Amino acid sequence: MSSYDVAVIGAGPGGYVAAIRCAQLGFKTAIIEKQALGGTCLNVGCIPSKALLDSSHHYYDAVTHFKEHGIDIDTPKVNFTQMIARKQNVIDTNVAGIEYLMGKNNIDVLKGTGAFKDATHIIVTAVDGSTQEIEAKNTIIATGSVSSELPFAPTDGTRIITSTEALALTEVPAHLIVIGGGVIGLELGSVYLRLGSQVTVVEYADRVIPGMDGALSKELTKVLKKQGMKFYTSTGVTSVVNNGNDVTLKATNKKGEEIEIQGDYALVAVGRRAFTGSLGLDTVGVEVDERGRIKTNGHLQTNVSNIYAIGDVVAGAMLAHKAEEEGTLVAEQLAGQKPHIDYNLIPGVVYTWPEVAGVGKTEEQLKEEGVEYKVGSFPFKALGRARASMDTDGFAKILADKNTDEVLGVHIIGARAADLIAEGVTAMEFRASAEDISRMSHAHPTFSEAIKEAALAATANRAIHA
Ligand SMILES: Cc1cc2nc3c(=O)[nH]c(=O)nc-3n(C[C@H](O)[C@H](O)[C@H](O)COP(=O)(O)OP(=O)(O)OC[C@H]3O[C@@H](n4cnc5c(N)ncnc54)[C@H](O)[C@@H]3O)c2cc1C
Repeated sequence: MSSYDVAVIGAGPGGYVAAIRCAQLGFKTAIIEKQALGGTCLNVGCIPSKALLDSSHHYYDAVTHFKEHGIDIDTPKVNFTQMIARKQNVIDTNVAGIEYLMGKNNIDVLKGTGAFKDATHIIVTAVDGSTQEIEAKNTIIATGSVSSELPFAPTDGTRIITSTEALALTEVPAHLIVIGGGVIGLELGSVYLRLGSQVTVVEYADRVIPGMDGALSKELTKVLKKQGMKFYTSTGVTSVVNNGNDVTLKATNKKGEEIEIQGDYALVAVGRRAFTGSLGLDTVGVEVDERGRIKTNGHLQTNVSNIYAIGDVVAGAMLAHKAEEEGTLVAEQLAGQKPHIDYNLIPGVVYTWPEVAGVGKTEEQLKEEGVEYKVGSFPFKALGRARASMDTDGFAKILADKNTDEVLGVHIIGARAADLIAEGVTAMEFRASAEDISRMSHAHPTFSEAIKEAALAATANRAIHA
């Protein structure tokens, strides 16, 4: 029987990063994965969705912007088969990259489903049914999450689908109904909207991306409506029926009116839930909370002292970079180090166009917490860079403490917000004031100037270009 210092179950961004960090720190490490390396993120999440967002963005630009840029082309056509094939190629290259990294770091990759025999022994069952037992001094559970289901909209993989099927359709839907106006729903809705589908979003809350700053939600709704997306907010879905060639969705809005929508696909994008099936948690007595997430203490340690859990399978934002930080944290703790994660500084991003990104406190949270704050905002339309590229929608907004000027939140909707938010994270990590940001030189012309200008506006209401 092979013995390891650390066994990691699940090779998503949480698990494979944990394994690499463990190996770097000198631990003999194994990683157990029942599907492809890379987990949800590389195979059916972050990477394929961004691949399709990029392809559809190119097409949308060609159709809507090329002429004005002075580029005359014949009417572009979507070759959807090629688009999906390219996406798969991107996935395969990334998965191969993780395989390479496992080899480079001398991590044993055990293909199969991992289940606890006891706190220090794991049985790995391969697809062909063969089993092997390993011994592990410590185990890190990183088994991730799966799409949440709605009892009245049971997914069937054909017409009523999850994000996994939406990333691998064989045709561009004529009308895609998206249940849930969160990140995944709006990103995949954007893909098909750009490719020519009619897209209708039905959201139970009174606004889309409800967890993000309200101003971002309002602006995103406005811009996506301008692009043609249709929204029903404060509307609860009551049933979805697969009619064979199309679907019928029924919902009730806050006035109590019944709405019926006909589409050819319904995408259920109402969040994800922790996945612990087949792990045999009961055998070792690892506790889960009321939502099925593995309970951990501040060190991501479960109630069984040599078993840890990270990523989507524990509480917190279901994001790849959060999972990665947690993987690193557990590995370094095992090596006797004292790492720390500031969960307030995990940025959230929506890869629509314009992109949306936020870090720190939202304005709603500051109000609720009774914090005295000031706001500085700057519109992208006042940026030379944004006008040059015709990306003038959006704004950057900085929330700073009214008395100390410390930056408490950075919220951006606009071109490349996903990359720009790193400045907000850096500033807040070093507890910068709005004035600190406003006095740093930002290259001209760049989208990042919106952050400097928003900081100027927050510091002393003295943005230069607005
Ligand atoms: C459509 C979509 C788009 C997304 N886009 C983004 C994005 O842009 N940015 C972002 O930060 N996040 C995004 N996410 C979320 C992101 O994918 C997850 O937060 C991230 O993958 C979580 O990582 P993880 O390591 O915790 O788990 P996962 O990536 O879910 O990996 C868990 C792995 O464990 C394996 N496993 C489970 N049980 C066992 C077992 N018993 N034995 C062996 N293996 C097992 C699974 O097969 C899987 O490979 C997206 C998600 C979706 C669905």
